[in-house]
Amino acid sequence: KIVCVTGASGFIASWIVKFLLQRGYTVRASVRDPNDPKKTNHLLVLDGAKERLHLFKANLLEEGAFDSAIEGCECVFHTASPFFIDVKDPQSLLLEPAVKGTLNVLNSCAKSPSVKRVVLTSSVAAVSFNERPQTPDVVVDETWFSDPEFAKKEQQWYVLSKTLAEDTAWKFAKEKGIDMVAINPAMVIGPLLQPALNTSAAAILNLINGAQVFPNLTFGWVDVRDVAKAHIQAYEIPSASGRYCTVGRVAHCSEVVRTLSELYPSLQLPQKCADDKPFVPTFQVSKEKAKSLGIEFTPFEVSLKETVECLKEKGFASF
Ligand code: NDP
Repeated sequence: KIVCVTGASGFIASWIVKFLLQRGYTVRASVRDPNDPKKTNHLLVLDGAKERLHLFKANLLEEGAFDSAIEGCECVFHTASPFFIDVKDPQSLLLEPAVKGTLNVLNSCAKSPSVKRVVLTSSVAAVSFNERPQTPDVVVDETWFSDPEFAKKEQQWYVLSKTLAEDTAWKFAKEKGIDMVAINPAMVIGPLLQPALNTSAAAILNLINGAQVFPNLTFGWVDVRDVAKAHIQAYEIPSASGRYCTVGRVAHCSEVVRTLSELYPSLQLPQKCADDKPFVPTFQVSKEKAKSLGIEFTPFEVSLKETVECLKEKGFASF
């Protein structure tokens, strides 16, 4: 069976490609620059790549760019979307590629009768960013939606990009009768296959590379291999539908630092919070739907350790 992965060189997508090849699929991998070895070498060396991996050049902002990669595929995993926090021009660097890019990919899917399902990589950023109380007794689940007006007010442009992209995708899928499933991961950690440092792995690197303070922030965390598996299960299980939050653990950055200090007792870690305010509270995220895909979440400590080991191995971590 032939499937397509958009943004295949990225952190999450590389693991999706690896698992798809392991499972015997023929994979069409869309990348922006197929001639850049930093974006493709780690894919080309995967088991099965020689026989069953095909690279396609496609930019989210070029209309029709995904037509040839998608035509003839049974499933499209749409992961490509910029994930940056500090951007000078959010409209052109985040919002347009996320929203127009998603429509562009879905348009190609609508044109190809071979496509039976689309698996969209959304985010908990599209689920929980609203003004509802989030405290340890609150359970966030797939019925929650982020509030774009709140994201605008808070100038959370990445959150806004994912919220608008998912919303646009559901509307378009409904209109065109596309069978779509969304995966909504929290901050993804775990070993990197790609050589470039991605934003969520950088959040861990920042804590271990000599920072004086940790941010007063609480995040959901999840292992990249669990997220990749969830994508594939969402395709292979015919009854999968709607959205799937994939969050292994919710933890404040102080807890991440504490876990790191247990794993690496001699490591210099930030001792103080970046502000004097009370810690942003934790909350829960329902695991029920994810479990129905057969996902058993990797323990947070294991993911964290393997992230750090990988950051050391790749020369990012300076200890
Ligand atoms: P990466 O930065 O590693 O991957 C992003 C991918 O998107 C890259 O392959 C990148 O291509 C591609 N891309 C960006 N802009 C364009 C464009 N204009 N045209 C074509 N491709 C483009 O990040 P992740 O793997 O972390 O993110 C993948 C997806 O997962 C995104 O949709 C992200 O929003 C989502 N996500 C990530 C989470 C995380 O914690 N990592 C959490 C929740 C959701 P190139 O390599 O050429 O730049």
